[in-house]
Amino acid sequence: MAGEPQDDCLFCKIVAGQIPATIVRETETTVAFRDINPQAPTHVLVIPKAHHRDAAALAAAEPAVAADVLRETQAVAGEEKLESYRIVFNTGSGAGQTVWHAHAHVLGGRGLEWPPG
Ligand code: 5GP
Ligand code: ZN
Repeated sequence: MAGEPQDDCLFCKIVAGQIPATIVRETETTVAFRDINPQAPTHVLVIPKAHHRDAAALAAAEPAVAADVLRETQAVAGEEKLESYRIVFNTGSGAGQTVWHAHAHVLGGRGLEWPPG
């Protein structure tokens, strides 16, 4: 069921503490942790604790939690003292999504070209 933990989901396992992660922030509805393969000096993932396959599904099912995720990206950027940063929701395999649990990338600490590749 939408929102319920999935046994085969890596990020649900991080939420449950079954896989270690470097957690930088946690709220009632979200967890923020460092990406295992950082693409910038700051590369943090902000996820809802509830399982939704991507950001669009999260926004449709639980818009208040989607807003929590967005608010947490801003909190991470503040804690990391990022003046400029990028928030990315890869949505669909053609856009590079590899983990099917909604997540926002917070990237910063270096110049970020636009448009991205
Ligand atoms: P996507 O490609 O789906 O937008 O992003 C998934 C992200 O999850 C990638 O940047 C990848 O490096 C990160 N990732 C994959 N496995 C793990 C893991 O076990 N721990 C952490 N912290 N990040 C992971
Ligand atoms: Zn999940």
